[in-house]
Amino acid sequence: MIDNPLLSYDDLPSFSAIRPKHVEPAIFHLLDQACAAIHARLQQGPPYHWNELITLLETWDNRLNKAWAPVSHLNAVCNNENMRAAYNACLPALSAYATEMGQNAALYQAYLSLRDSAEYATLDIAARQLIDHALRDFKLTGVALPPDQQARCKTINQRLSQLSSQFEENLLDATYAWRKPIASLDALAGLPPSALAMLKQNAERDGLDGWLLTLEFPCYQAIMTYADDRALREEVYLAYVTRASDQGPHAGRWNNGPVMEEILALRHEKAQLLGFADYAALSLATKMADHPEKVLGFLNDLAQRAKPRAERDLDELRSFAKDQDGIANLQAWDIGYYSEKLRQQRYQLSQEALKAYFPITRVLPGLFAIVERLYGLRVTELTDFDSWHPDVRLFALYDQAGQLRGRFYLDLYARPHKRSGAWMDDCKGRVRLGDRLQTPVAFLVCNFTPPTSDTPALLTHDEVTTLFHEFGHGLHHLLTQVDHLGVSGINGVEWDAVELPSQFMENWCWEHEALTLISGHYQTGEALPQAMLQNLRAAKHFQAGMLMVRQLEFALFDYRLHREYDPQRGGRIYEILDEVRHHVAVVRPPTYNRFAHGFSHIFAGGYGAGYYSYKWAEVLSSDAFSLFEETGIFNPLTGQAFLTHILEKGGSENAMALFVKFRGREPSIDALLRHSGIEESVV
Ligand code: ZN
Repeated sequence: MIDNPLLSYDDLPSFSAIRPKHVEPAIFHLLDQACAAIHARLQQGPPYHWNELITLLETWDNRLNKAWAPVSHLNAVCNNENMRAAYNACLPALSAYATEMGQNAALYQAYLSLRDSAEYATLDIAARQLIDHALRDFKLTGVALPPDQQARCKTINQRLSQLSSQFEENLLDATYAWRKPIASLDALAGLPPSALAMLKQNAERDGLDGWLLTLEFPCYQAIMTYADDRALREEVYLAYVTRASDQGPHAGRWNNGPVMEEILALRHEKAQLLGFADYAALSLATKMADHPEKVLGFLNDLAQRAKPRAERDLDELRSFAKDQDGIANLQAWDIGYYSEKLRQQRYQLSQEALKAYFPITRVLPGLFAIVERLYGLRVTELTDFDSWHPDVRLFALYDQAGQLRGRFYLDLYARPHKRSGAWMDDCKGRVRLGDRLQTPVAFLVCNFTPPTSDTPALLTHDEVTTLFHEFGHGLHHLLTQVDHLGVSGINGVEWDAVELPSQFMENWCWEHEALTLISGHYQTGEALPQAMLQNLRAAKHFQAGMLMVRQLEFALFDYRLHREYDPQRGGRIYEILDEVRHHVAVVRPPTYNRFAHGFSHIFAGGYGAGYYSYKWAEVLSSDAFSLFEETGIFNPLTGQAFLTHILEKGGSENAMALFVKFRGREPSIDALLRHSGIEESVV
């Protein structure tokens, strides 16, 4: 154990020394030790105090996290068979540990006695919040219920987790069951070379000649966006939107219908067992929105304001399709295709031409300059450190007073065996244990096209926005001044508020004054031409109304489905969806459309009665940014206020209270409508 690099490091992990063989011994050893230490303490019984009970729990959480974070990170960025096996071998034990701790009645009693003790009132607000959150989470597992109801709750949870997997498996099986080999390139007219290469690769993977269409999302999307053949688009559309349902080419074969009904019934029963009116109310227990009517009011309000613009968007598209190809009745499988054509005609935005103005050698220093102006932060690069790949860089973040706030690894480029996408992850969190303060460390990971020997990495504007987004998450994790692990950084932040700092940062990618800091031609240093900037900003609002009502349709459907569940009447899934569409949607899909049967976010992911969170967080970030528009986008006082009220506070206070402190009032939807181009600018 002494030689195990996952256990022996103090400051930063020795990534190059970590081998798959280290993983299981380290994790199982820590889990055993943590269990033994916590059980021993609970055996002694009360009185409980913050300084021993919570310190003990945070110490073990921190040790486990310090060992597991590099493993989970390496599994994502340097995946290989042995590391994946070691990683997977630990998952059941980690999840069993979390369940055991989350449902441990003695631990629940210990927290309760701490909450009821005289000491509670003497604790700081972050400590009290941590105790309150723990008690809330215990209650949500059913541990506070009488034994028979507790047992029922456990059974429901187990069944729900089986049903989620079943939903996902049905969807996967249905997705992979459909394939369409294409022998002639003529049939694929309109597709760009990158899409054709993907279809060719699909065919090769299956040992076929020619091209192969599948229902995997990139393939579906490429056909819907580019295929000139209208009948082919219709065929692929029909197969895609009927997956795992009672309709389409595999009707009834992997039907998610009964699975969805059982999920809704059990969620409703569980919510009522736990004392909530319905699952929509239960879902809000861990969110910033405090009442179901507030969520519904907010979504309906947005929908009402966005729908006229969405209708105009659709009318425009209809007449465009008619002019182009004489299409008299625009169908669901025509929307993506003609939208892309219209976008190209209107903006002629070439991502390739734009990229030359966003070399990473300008974007990154520009990003650092922006946070320096906003928050008085200084970013310096560190050189002597151990890493998992030569491209990785490490930076330190200092505040105005010269204090080290945290460090972050930056792993920017795509390469084999690295998971796709972009994300921020926690390597270590901020915590004070005894008289020792641990400063936070973050992983920032992207998948940009790497530089070549004579050209720096050139980013598309989307990629620039992605970098700013993840950096925003990073600032939230690194700038925290909270000393308790459970509520420091992004920990303990309400679900629907966690995207506030990240989406907030994206705003700077569209502002003229900020763009001069982050752009410049990689060969000449020349500034981004005005015409390009204007096109870029105009294209941001393309079909904003249609996009908005589509997201609102999903969010309202999800929320009402859980809110209106009635055991006597069942889920009424498509009845509710139809009603929502009637009020909100402008595009009415064909009756065979079984969208809900593939809506994994809410049936297999964690978004049940929570899909609205996407829009909610956009409202928060837009509204927060509007204060900068009012006071100047680099106003240091506004920056300071965002830093002290939001970024430094983590989950130590309720997100609504923090937002009100920063903005001076509760969030309003006006700024989002303006920023997304749905309502005219008044600022
Ligand atoms: Zn995010």
